[in-house]
Amino acid sequence: MNIILLGPPGAGKGTQAHHLVATRDMIQLSTGDMLREAKESGTEMGKRVADVMARGELVTDEIVIGLIREKLEGGKGGGFIFDGFPRTLPQADALGQLLSECGETLDAVIEMQVDDEALVDRITARSTCSNCGEVYNDNTKPIPADGVCTKCGEAHEFIRRADDNEEALRNRLMEYYKKTSPLIGYYYAKDMLSSINGLGPVDDVQRSIAAILQG
Ligand code: ADP
Ligand code: AMP
Repeated sequence: MNIILLGPPGAGKGTQAHHLVATRDMIQLSTGDMLREAKESGTEMGKRVADVMARGELVTDEIVIGLIREKLEGGKGGGFIFDGFPRTLPQADALGQLLSECGETLDAVIEMQVDDEALVDRITARSTCSNCGEVYNDNTKPIPADGVCTKCGEAHEFIRRADDNEEALRNRLMEYYKKTSPLIGYYYAKDMLSSINGLGPVDDVQRSIAAILQG
Protein backbone atom coordinates (compact mmCIF):
# COMPACT_ATOMS: atom_id res chain seq x y z
CA MET A 1 0.00 0.00 0.00
CA ASN A 2 1.40 3.40 -1.00
CA ILE A 3 0.10 6.50 0.75
CA ILE A 4 0.66 10.24 1.00
CA LEU A 5 0.52 12.04 4.35
CA LEU A 6 -0.52 15.56 3.38
CA GLY A 7 -0.56 18.47 5.79
CA PRO A 8 1.12 21.70 6.84
CA PRO A 9 4.44 21.78 8.70
CA GLY A 10 3.89 20.41 12.20
CA ALA A 11 0.73 18.49 11.31
CA GLY A 12 2.33 15.29 12.65
CA LYS A 13 3.28 13.60 9.35
CA GLY A 14 6.70 12.45 10.55
CA THR A 15 5.34 11.22 13.88
CA GLN A 16 2.68 9.13 12.17
CA ALA A 17 5.05 7.91 9.45
CA HIS A 18 7.45 6.56 12.11
CA HIS A 19 4.59 4.61 13.66
CA LEU A 20 3.60 3.12 10.29
CA VAL A 21 7.21 2.13 9.62
CA ALA A 22 7.42 0.40 13.01
CA THR A 23 4.06 -1.38 12.83
CA ARG A 24 3.54 -2.07 9.12
CA ASP A 25 7.04 -2.36 7.70
CA MET A 26 6.34 0.59 5.42
CA ILE A 27 9.11 2.80 3.99
CA GLN A 28 9.03 6.50 4.87
CA LEU A 29 10.08 8.80 2.04
CA SER A 30 10.52 12.25 3.58
CA THR A 31 11.96 14.74 1.09
CA GLY A 32 12.68 17.09 4.03
CA ASP A 33 14.87 14.39 5.67
CA MET A 34 16.60 13.65 2.35
CA LEU A 35 17.38 17.34 1.77
CA ARG A 36 18.69 17.78 5.34
CA GLU A 37 20.93 14.72 4.84
CA ALA A 38 22.28 16.22 1.59
CA LYS A 39 22.93 19.50 3.42
CA GLU A 40 24.70 17.81 6.33
CA SER A 41 26.87 15.65 4.11
CA GLY A 42 27.87 18.77 2.16
CA THR A 43 26.90 17.60 -1.35
CA GLU A 44 26.67 20.22 -4.14
CA MET A 45 22.89 19.92 -4.14
CA GLY A 46 22.83 20.21 -0.32
CA LYS A 47 24.78 23.47 -0.51
CA ARG A 48 22.44 24.84 -3.18
CA VAL A 49 19.25 24.18 -1.17
CA ALA A 50 20.49 25.27 2.29
CA ASP A 51 19.44 28.93 2.09
CA VAL A 52 16.08 28.18 0.49
CA MET A 53 15.30 25.69 3.28
CA ALA A 54 16.44 28.06 6.02
CA ARG A 55 14.03 30.69 4.68
CA GLY A 56 11.21 28.17 4.63
CA GLU A 57 10.69 28.29 0.86
CA LEU A 58 10.30 25.30 -1.43
CA VAL A 59 13.26 23.87 -3.32
CA THR A 60 12.77 23.18 -7.04
CA ASP A 61 10.45 20.45 -8.26
CA GLU A 62 13.30 19.00 -10.31
CA ILE A 63 15.45 18.34 -7.22
CA VAL A 64 12.78 16.66 -5.09
CA ILE A 65 11.35 14.62 -7.98
CA GLY A 66 14.91 13.36 -8.64
CA LEU A 67 15.25 12.32 -4.99
CA ILE A 68 11.97 10.42 -5.03
CA ARG A 69 12.79 8.75 -8.35
CA GLU A 70 16.00 7.32 -6.85
CA LYS A 71 14.18 5.96 -3.80
CA LEU A 72 11.40 4.31 -5.80
CA GLU A 73 14.03 2.31 -7.58
CA GLY A 74 15.05 0.78 -4.21
CA GLY A 75 13.11 -1.75 -2.07
CA LYS A 76 9.42 -1.51 -1.39
CA GLY A 77 8.72 -3.26 1.95
CA GLY A 78 5.10 -2.88 3.06
CA GLY A 79 4.64 0.15 0.80
CA PHE A 80 5.77 3.75 0.63
CA ILE A 81 4.69 6.62 2.85
CA PHE A 82 5.24 9.91 1.06
CA ASP A 83 5.87 12.50 3.79
CA GLY A 84 6.28 16.11 2.67
CA PHE A 85 6.05 15.08 -0.99
CA PRO A 86 4.33 16.03 -3.25
CA ARG A 87 4.11 19.71 -2.34
CA THR A 88 3.16 21.19 -5.73
CA LEU A 89 0.89 20.15 -8.60
CA PRO A 90 3.86 19.31 -10.90
CA GLN A 91 5.26 17.09 -8.11
CA ALA A 92 1.89 15.33 -7.81
CA ASP A 93 1.79 14.71 -11.58
CA ALA A 94 5.37 13.43 -11.47
CA LEU A 95 4.59 11.06 -8.61
CA GLY A 96 1.66 9.56 -10.53
CA GLN A 97 3.94 9.05 -13.53
CA LEU A 98 6.80 7.54 -11.49
CA LEU A 99 4.49 5.12 -9.69
CA SER A 100 2.90 3.94 -12.91
CA GLU A 101 6.35 3.43 -14.46
CA CYS A 102 7.18 1.08 -11.53
CA GLY A 103 3.82 -0.71 -11.83
CA GLU A 104 2.69 0.79 -8.52
CA THR A 105 -0.48 2.58 -7.49
CA LEU A 106 -1.27 5.34 -5.03
CA ASP A 107 -3.77 3.90 -2.56
CA ALA A 108 -4.66 6.74 -0.20
CA VAL A 109 -3.98 10.41 0.42
CA ILE A 110 -4.51 11.32 4.06
CA GLU A 111 -4.92 15.02 4.77
CA MET A 112 -4.06 15.86 8.39
CA GLN A 113 -5.94 18.96 9.49
CA VAL A 114 -4.41 21.09 12.26
CA ASP A 115 -5.05 24.80 12.83
CA ASP A 116 -2.26 27.35 12.51
CA GLU A 117 -2.09 28.24 16.19
CA ALA A 118 -1.42 24.61 17.17
CA LEU A 119 1.17 24.31 14.37
CA VAL A 120 3.19 27.23 15.73
CA ASP A 121 3.04 25.74 19.25
CA ARG A 122 4.10 22.32 17.99
CA ILE A 123 6.92 23.46 15.74
CA THR A 124 8.55 25.81 18.21
CA ALA A 125 8.56 22.95 20.79
CA ARG A 126 9.91 20.23 18.44
CA SER A 127 13.24 18.42 18.74
CA THR A 128 14.53 15.17 17.27
CA CYS A 129 17.03 12.54 18.35
CA SER A 130 20.16 13.03 16.23
CA ASN A 131 20.75 9.27 16.22
CA CYS A 132 17.40 7.80 15.15
CA GLY A 133 15.19 10.78 14.25
CA GLU A 134 12.57 10.12 16.95
CA VAL A 135 10.43 13.26 17.29
CA TYR A 136 9.94 14.93 20.69
CA ASN A 137 7.91 17.90 21.89
CA ASP A 138 8.56 20.07 24.96
CA ASN A 139 4.86 20.08 25.80
CA THR A 140 3.48 16.71 24.75
CA LYS A 141 6.51 14.39 24.59
CA PRO A 142 9.47 15.86 26.45
CA ILE A 143 13.02 14.58 26.05
CA PRO A 144 13.60 12.02 28.86
CA ALA A 145 15.29 13.52 31.92
CA ASP A 146 18.20 11.06 31.62
CA GLY A 147 18.81 12.15 28.01
CA VAL A 148 18.31 8.60 26.70
CA CYS A 149 16.10 8.38 23.61
CA THR A 150 13.04 6.20 24.20
CA LYS A 151 13.33 4.74 20.70
CA CYS A 152 17.01 3.95 20.10
CA GLY A 153 17.96 3.69 23.78
CA GLU A 154 21.04 5.87 23.30
CA ALA A 155 22.07 9.27 24.67
CA HIS A 156 22.82 11.48 21.68
CA GLU A 157 22.14 15.14 21.02
CA PHE A 158 18.53 16.26 20.55
CA ILE A 159 18.36 18.69 17.66
CA ARG A 160 16.16 21.71 17.02
CA ARG A 161 15.78 22.39 13.31
CA ALA A 162 17.16 25.71 12.02
CA ASP A 163 13.86 26.41 10.21
CA ASP A 164 11.71 25.73 13.30
CA ASN A 165 11.54 29.42 14.17
CA GLU A 166 8.59 31.76 13.82
CA GLU A 167 9.83 33.66 10.76
CA ALA A 168 10.70 30.59 8.66
CA LEU A 169 7.50 28.95 9.82
CA ARG A 170 5.46 31.88 8.51
CA ASN A 171 7.02 31.33 5.07
CA ARG A 172 6.51 27.57 5.30
CA LEU A 173 2.83 28.05 6.07
CA MET A 174 2.48 30.55 3.21
CA GLU A 175 4.13 28.08 0.83
CA TYR A 176 1.77 25.37 2.08
CA TYR A 177 -1.39 27.40 1.48
CA LYS A 178 -0.24 28.78 -1.89
CA LYS A 179 1.40 25.74 -3.47
CA THR A 180 0.49 22.57 -1.53
CA SER A 181 -3.13 23.03 -0.46
CA PRO A 182 -4.33 22.84 -4.13
CA LEU A 183 -3.37 19.15 -3.89
CA ILE A 184 -6.36 18.64 -1.60
CA GLY A 185 -8.69 19.39 -4.54
CA TYR A 186 -6.45 17.47 -6.94
CA TYR A 187 -6.71 14.23 -4.95
CA TYR A 188 -10.36 14.81 -4.02
CA ALA A 189 -11.16 14.94 -7.72
CA LYS A 190 -9.35 11.62 -8.14
CA ASP A 191 -11.45 10.18 -5.29
CA MET A 192 -8.36 9.40 -3.24
CA LEU A 193 -8.62 11.94 -0.44
CA SER A 194 -9.40 11.16 3.22
CA SER A 195 -9.26 14.06 5.67
CA ILE A 196 -8.68 13.51 9.38
CA ASN A 197 -8.51 15.69 12.47
CA GLY A 198 -4.82 15.90 13.35
CA LEU A 199 -5.39 17.95 16.49
CA GLY A 200 -6.11 15.12 18.92
CA PRO A 201 -3.53 13.06 20.82
CA VAL A 202 -1.03 11.03 18.77
CA ASP A 203 -2.85 7.74 19.54
CA ASP A 204 -6.17 9.10 18.27
CA VAL A 205 -4.56 10.24 15.03
CA GLN A 206 -2.93 6.79 14.70
CA ARG A 207 -6.37 5.18 15.00
CA SER A 208 -7.88 7.48 12.37
CA ILE A 209 -5.11 6.57 9.95
CA ALA A 210 -5.41 2.84 10.72
CA ALA A 211 -9.15 3.01 9.98
CA ILE A 212 -8.44 4.48 6.53
CA LEU A 213 -5.75 1.91 5.75
CA GLN A 214 -8.04 -0.94 6.76
CA GLY A 215 -10.62 0.75 4.52
P1 ADP B 1 5.49 17.18 10.51
O1 ADP B 1 6.32 15.98 10.10
O2 ADP B 1 4.12 17.16 9.89
O3 ADP B 1 6.20 18.49 10.30
P2 ADP B 1 5.97 16.22 13.24
O4 ADP B 1 5.53 14.80 13.21
O5 ADP B 1 7.44 16.49 13.25
O6 ADP B 1 5.23 17.07 12.08
O7 ADP B 1 5.30 16.89 14.54
C1 ADP B 1 5.54 18.26 14.87
C2 ADP B 1 5.61 18.39 16.40
O8 ADP B 1 4.31 18.13 16.94
C3 ADP B 1 6.56 17.41 17.08
O9 ADP B 1 7.17 18.07 18.20
C4 ADP B 1 5.65 16.26 17.54
O10 ADP B 1 6.15 15.62 18.71
C5 ADP B 1 4.35 17.01 17.83
N1 ADP B 1 3.15 16.22 17.54
C6 ADP B 1 2.94 15.37 16.50
N2 ADP B 1 1.70 14.85 16.52
C7 ADP B 1 1.09 15.41 17.61
C8 ADP B 1 -0.21 15.29 18.19
N3 ADP B 1 -1.16 14.51 17.64
N4 ADP B 1 -0.49 16.03 19.29
C9 ADP B 1 0.45 16.84 19.85
N5 ADP B 1 1.70 16.99 19.37
C10 ADP B 1 2.01 16.29 18.26
P1 AMP C 1 9.96 19.27 5.96
O1 AMP C 1 11.01 18.46 6.66
O2 AMP C 1 8.97 18.44 5.20
O3 AMP C 1 9.31 20.27 6.89
O4 AMP C 1 10.73 20.13 4.84
C1 AMP C 1 11.75 21.06 5.20
C2 AMP C 1 12.08 21.95 4.00
O5 AMP C 1 12.62 21.16 2.93
C3 AMP C 1 10.89 22.70 3.37
O6 AMP C 1 10.59 23.92 4.04
C4 AMP C 1 11.44 22.94 1.95
O7 AMP C 1 12.41 23.99 1.92
C5 AMP C 1 12.18 21.63 1.65
N1 AMP C 1 11.29 20.60 1.06
C6 AMP C 1 10.96 19.40 1.62
N2 AMP C 1 10.16 18.69 0.80
C7 AMP C 1 9.97 19.46 -0.31
C8 AMP C 1 9.22 19.30 -1.50
N3 AMP C 1 8.50 18.19 -1.73
N4 AMP C 1 9.24 20.31 -2.42
C9 AMP C 1 9.98 21.41 -2.21
N5 AMP C 1 10.70 21.65 -1.09
C10 AMP C 1 10.70 20.68 -0.14
